[in-house]
Amino acid sequence: MSRKKLGGMFSDVDIREIVAHWQDILRLRDWDIRSLLVEKTWRKNGDVKIDMSNRMATVMVNRELDPAHLEEVVIHELLHIKLYGLDQMIEHLIEILYGDDEDARKQLNWGFFMEMLESTTEDLTKGYLQASGKRNSLNFSRVDRQVQEELSES
Ligand SMILES: [Zn+2]
Repeated sequence: MSRKKLGGMFSDVDIREIVAHWQDILRLRDWDIRSLLVEKTWRKNGDVKIDMSNRMATVMVNRELDPAHLEEVVIHELLHIKLYGLDQMIEHLIEILYGDDEDARKQLNWGFFMEMLESTTEDLTKGYLQASGKRNSLNFSRVDRQVQEELSES
């Protein structure tokens, strides 16, 4: 058993198994993908670092994540690898259009792009989960934060 396994939590072995399973389904077989369980306090549930030219990536998962959402987070991060070519192309187009200036139009389009990228990635994630027969409870954490902010103002 992994040293990192804690009560009710998951281990880096669990992450590796889910990565291997979905790497095949998502046709990312020619990629070398590592996983990393993030032990330090971290504001994100997960992330992925990508080296497109060498087809290498590291999927990072927050150890504080609710295990019920582990598969959802892993699929989400793997889909970012799948979408990375498009992602980079749009990033470059925004750079070409607006240069290094931090002008309002650049910020606006950057924000719009990031929102579209995240919502598309999450929609595809939920679709894959559903198609695979997984009936995971939906992760409402982003909306929950807004609800808490709303209620803390009064
Ligand atoms: Zn994302």
